[in-house]
Amino acid sequence: MLTKEIPKVRYAIIGGSGTWACDFPEDIGLEGVEVLQRDLEFETPFGTTVAFKHCSLTGKDGQPREFLTVPFHGFHGLAPHNNPSEQIFWVFQQAGVKFILAEGSGGSINPLLEPGDIVIPHDFIDMTKRRSHIHEFTNKLLRMAKPLCTDLRSVLYKHADQEYRRVFQRGVYVTTESPRFESESEIQMLRDARGDIAAHTLCPEVYLARAIGAHYAGLYIVSNYGEGVNAAWQGESIFDWYNSCALPIGRIMLRTLADVEPEAACECMSYRTDVPSKINQRIRA
Ligand SMILES: [Zn+2]
Repeated sequence: MLTKEIPKVRYAIIGGSGTWACDFPEDIGLEGVEVLQRDLEFETPFGTTVAFKHCSLTGKDGQPREFLTVPFHGFHGLAPHNNPSEQIFWVFQQAGVKFILAEGSGGSINPLLEPGDIVIPHDFIDMTKRRSHIHEFTNKLLRMAKPLCTDLRSVLYKHADQEYRRVFQRGVYVTTESPRFESESEIQMLRDARGDIAAHTLCPEVYLARAIGAHYAGLYIVSNYGEGVNAAWQGESIFDWYNSCALPIGRIMLRTLADVEPEAACECMSYRTDVPSKINQRIRA
């Protein structure tokens, strides 16, 4: 249903393959979580979005927290060619979103990782070839120091640690071009580059979040070995992990959102640099 009015909310959850197998957030069954509106599609300068839900839960301060959520990173099908990230971040910018949690899955690059492990990345490498639209969201210079919010990551870890046996608080997420997985030689190259997991969605989300002045962090389940990491792996297990992780990852997302400090103490906003006015005029000219 095409909707003109974008709800004003401070929080958002970007769903991914972590909750692909369930109806989020209804199926999670947490008390106090309410869907206020569903089937919200928005026109954006980048095209029409998939359907959002406008939801509410009770925050740690006892106040209701309204949030927008979108399934599977806003992708229309599996391919990212129609700018789904730009579509959903344009909506977040209009809504006034300041805190964004994302989830998904990835393939292991680091040979110490096993399917079923949880990684909360602290940094990224962007191997995508898509055109950047950052300048359509901000005219600030964006430093990529601590690109994933330290505050959100620590709250994500606290709740992930209650659901999973092996949760890694750091990791380098390599964004490769969707929808195919990587070759054995690509995985070897990314291991040499000190990547830990390879997946398809963190970029451009992570820098669009900084562009709109929002704190952003993500949690990813290892759903498969990267090609060549484990010679015995025959491609099994990916969809088994998606089925079994939907409810626990859904709980982690909602509990983390409820537990976030409304006034962040992190450094995220200090890495958005104003361009001096004279130079800015030259840029605009
Ligand atoms: Zn932050």
